[in-house]
Amino acid sequence: MKICFACSEVVPLAKTGGLADVCGSLPIELQKLGHQVSLFLPAYRSAKQTGLKLKPTGLKLEIPVGPKMVPAEILSTTLPDSDVSVYLVDQPQYYDRPQLYGESGRDYPDNCERYVFFCRAVLEAIRSLRLEPEVLHAHDWQTGLLPTYLKTEYAGTPPYDQITSVFTIHNLAYQGRFWHWDMLLTGLDWKHFNWRELEFYGQLNLLKAGIVFADALTTVSPTYAREIQTAEQGCWNPATDRALPRTYSVRNWKEGKAACKAALQQHSGLEVRADLPLIGAVGRLVSQKGWSLILPVMQQWLPTIDAQWVILGTGEPEFEQQLAQLQKRYPGKLAVHLKFADELAHQIEAGSDMFLMPSHYEPCGLNQMYSMVYGSVPVVRSTGGLFDTVVDATPYNLERKQATGFTFGPFLSESLEQALARAVCCYHSQPRVWSQLVETGMSLNWSWSESARKYEQLYERAICLRLSRTPCQ
Ligand code: ADP
Repeated sequence: MKICFACSEVVPLAKTGGLADVCGSLPIELQKLGHQVSLFLPAYRSAKQTGLKLKPTGLKLEIPVGPKMVPAEILSTTLPDSDVSVYLVDQPQYYDRPQLYGESGRDYPDNCERYVFFCRAVLEAIRSLRLEPEVLHAHDWQTGLLPTYLKTEYAGTPPYDQITSVFTIHNLAYQGRFWHWDMLLTGLDWKHFNWRELEFYGQLNLLKAGIVFADALTTVSPTYAREIQTAEQGCWNPATDRALPRTYSVRNWKEGKAACKAALQQHSGLEVRADLPLIGAVGRLVSQKGWSLILPVMQQWLPTIDAQWVILGTGEPEFEQQLAQLQKRYPGKLAVHLKFADELAHQIEAGSDMFLMPSHYEPCGLNQMYSMVYGSVPVVRSTGGLFDTVVDATPYNLERKQATGFTFGPFLSESLEQALARAVCCYHSQPRVWSQLVETGMSLNWSWSESARKYEQLYERAICLRLSRTPCQ
């Protein structure tokens, strides 16, 4: 099957969250199953700075955006250790910026225009490059117009009439809502601005556009779409991870993690102490991730409890300020890194003893899975993907060798504190139980190949349904 992915993030070229991990891994697994996969991404500044060689394809396009024609150039590269082609849509005016979607907690005001341009450029490039995909797989609001164009402006014309669209929602909270006049940018007929199609409470909603017009729709969940990559890929595998000062596996994790912990403490300016529990958290500093629970616990624990904290994240200025202030007050106990740093994220997963993820909601969540693979015991709120993947350390679950972490229910800092206190208590006084938790987590088998097989079936069903509109086996 020929499959095209269109996405706004792909590791290692551009990343703010888990979407990038999915879009950088799933195509490789699909390729291994024998499919021909190519991928489209905006040529962001970060993509040009990764060190991957971006070659011009020679293809230059003029893309209609509202009344304007905007030039696009198509660059190409391949995903590392694979022959998955990546096509990058270059237009420095839109994409040569410090961040992907906005700065200092504010979205770029022309985001609608930037992704209208991207979607149209993808469709034009598919034709010019003669890619002839049977499936176009779009992700999140940034690419929601792709299924829409296929069913409207581009409908019935080759090669678009051969394309089945699949749309995946990674996070329903980000919908790409814009004022109604941005309809003009899309070039779509106003007749589509109605409550059944693109309109949502008076606004243009690009996520809704994808949902309404795609031939098949999926959401992410650990049991379906989005699982940690396989060992051979080596991105999140402590046995081969080049970002770690010492690699390790389930057989020698004690020495390995001890070395990683010491290095992390040193690098973060913390006291180098093997005996203190080191609590890590990595993620976007947004309310979804439960920072309003973490901060009160930190305020309470930092002056009183013998534990260290390492935080890595960027996001809402309010959370950044509070974390920076706490760091000033407790420099030996708390390290705050307000940046996006992939290697450091790996080092924190490896060097911390426990990993916090008290999300308000979590469609899937990757970090809790990474932390288990790296032997950092997750302390999570039981919601969505966290509920599906982390098994609480109750006597029952421990006896069955299924427990992997500490969970809690109510979205309250007291509940997080209780779960964290259980974790710290276990760490200090029940080393055997702790080892069991680490080893059960490290032995779990999360695999993208299983995901890829499920997507393969979905593509086949979607094509079948679109073509025949009759049930297929
Ligand atoms: P989400 O997709 O909602 O952001 P996930 O847990 O599914 O949450 O995935 C987050 C991904 O982004 C993980 O790979 C995580 O390591 C990475 N990440 C988030 N913030 C940072 C950061 N500041 N530096 C490095 N990696 C980060």
